[in-house]
Amino acid sequence: MGDEEEKKPDCVKVAVRLRPLSSKELGNNESSIIELTEQTSGTGTATGSVVINDPDNKEKPSTFAFDIVFGTGTMQETVFQAVGQAAVNSTLTGYNGTIFAYGQTGSGKSWCMMGGGGDLKGIIPRVNEQLFVRIDELQQAVSSRKFLVMCSFFEIYNEIIFDLLNPVQDRSKLGAGLQVKEHPVLGIYVKDLQEIVVSDADKLVQLMNSGTKNRAVSSTMMNSVSSRSHSIFTIKVHQKDDEDKSKNVFAKLNLVDLAGSERQKGTGASGQTLKEGANINKSLSALGNVINALVEIANGKKVFVPFRNSKLTRVLQESLGGNSLCTMLATLSPAACNYEETMSTLRYANRAKAIKVSATKNEE
Ligand code: ADP
Ligand code: MG
Repeated sequence: MGDEEEKKPDCVKVAVRLRPLSSKELGNNESSIIELTEQTSGTGTATGSVVINDPDNKEKPSTFAFDIVFGTGTMQETVFQAVGQAAVNSTLTGYNGTIFAYGQTGSGKSWCMMGGGGDLKGIIPRVNEQLFVRIDELQQAVSSRKFLVMCSFFEIYNEIIFDLLNPVQDRSKLGAGLQVKEHPVLGIYVKDLQEIVVSDADKLVQLMNSGTKNRAVSSTMMNSVSSRSHSIFTIKVHQKDDEDKSKNVFAKLNLVDLAGSERQKGTGASGQTLKEGANINKSLSALGNVINALVEIANGKKVFVPFRNSKLTRVLQESLGGNSLCTMLATLSPAACNYEETMSTLRYANRAKAIKVSATKNEE
């Protein structure tokens, strides 16, 4: 395969994925309030729309259109083909990329990003594999081409950055955590974050697994185990070709599994859990505000974009604001009891569609 250029989208690409009703929901006689209209394209992906029925007002369904719509029968492989493969290709041609999963707890974010074993593996392990498949192909084709792949993995928990690949064993000794800095040439980075050089996919998958084990979890009355942190898995690729300097490029791919987007009220949260909720909402509402400002800019208005209002928006600044091909994967629960949260996810995803991106190649 050659290293042909992908067509670059000029807006954030927004995909939604509907998970099936869980066995618990089926047991509670929950019904699905979502219908999808998929228009399948040649690649097996579908643009389409989501129709959501208000369980209290059958007369008034709402409809939203998205770039890609994945129904309950969609395989992990298909999601990767539609969302991950393009990210691998553009990373290898020198464009930054970001895929982030957004949705309430239990809607399928981690399922999309990490997934299960074997054929059920998610986007991150597939990106890891495909990256090295493509690197091998490129190296076989052009022996002067050299690749350096580096990985980091961190989470933002209570507005504190925690290195998942170099964990502090006692979190109470974490203090303020790692700090976000800005380098005049290299841009925004997390100071002292472990970056590990990897030379094969197995090593990357191993780092993903060991990092995932270090993620923070706590209980609320609503969800026995819910993920209250944002995790960011980053792959950096440097390429050098002494015989063709135009191939000296650098790119960074962020694979982001956000904390649950649900509001905290009514969950019975108190004390530490409530504080976590407040901070998670701080990062997510800051993300919402950044998205709103970027939409205004896309509409031709001049507004200030408040990237510095949270750790999350600060570290995603370059991904959202500029030089990155960005895909938002919004995950949806079909259950009637999740109507409000699902509507809020759909509105959020719908707004993000308007954000313009202007990715340019990072040449070294
Ligand atoms: P989140 O990370 O958003 O909190 P999870 O990814 O952990 O949610 O998903 C919650 C549960 O639903 C998991 O047990 C997962 O296996 C299941 N699940 C989520 N999405 C799907 C899907 N598309 N198909 C089948 N099962 C899914
Ligand atoms: Mg999760």
